[in-house]
Amino acid sequence: MITTTICEIVWFAGLVGWYVIRYPFERRAKKVDVTRSLFGRRESGLLALAFLGLWLVPLIYALTGFPAALDRPLIPAIAILGVIALCGALVLFYRSHADLGKNWSISLQIRNEHRLVTTGIYRFIRHPMYTSFFLLAVAQVLLLPNWLAGLTGLVGVGILYAFRVRQEERMMIERFGTDYQNYMAHTARLIPWIA
Ligand code: SAH
Repeated sequence: MITTTICEIVWFAGLVGWYVIRYPFERRAKKVDVTRSLFGRRESGLLALAFLGLWLVPLIYALTGFPAALDRPLIPAIAILGVIALCGALVLFYRSHADLGKNWSISLQIRNEHRLVTTGIYRFIRHPMYTSFFLLAVAQVLLLPNWLAGLTGLVGVGILYAFRVRQEERMMIERFGTDYQNYMAHTARLIPWIA
């Protein structure tokens, strides 16, 4: 029997899993020197917005039931699709960290001895970590039977992506020149061969 409480537990377990995957990479990344960083107010604002949409609004909903007026019926088949999307997001999140290795950073940065990664999952798409964020946000819509708590993740991630992706690609072209341009010509951004 799938209940709202079970869906909420699955959602927050997914977020914990998300952080467990990220933590060792975050620790390792601190040890590598940064040569160029675009981190600033704009970046922290965008990250805060994503955090609000993925964590805080669902947390308030889970603890208080607010806003009950925007509840929708819980459909078990939809919730199961949510679990599948959540698992997919976690696998992709892990893969993108593992493939980027020391070149990973939470915000837009070029690191000492930064290497252009074009292998692993990066052979098919340039932004698998964003794909995993979008999958996570889709899982949130499918798992949480409330329109506000369900949709805020998608809004936060959508804004983060829209404001960052071109800036990130410009930064990569500045650093890697034609190598990155050639790489762009052969890969899609989020979905292999499509977009
Ligand atoms: N946008 C990518 C990476 C996110 S992590 C994704 O969605 O998977 C952010 C950092 O990764 C950026 O600061 C950039 O320096 C680095 N980066 C992005 N693509 C890279 C690549 N192909 N090779 C090496 N570093 C990359």
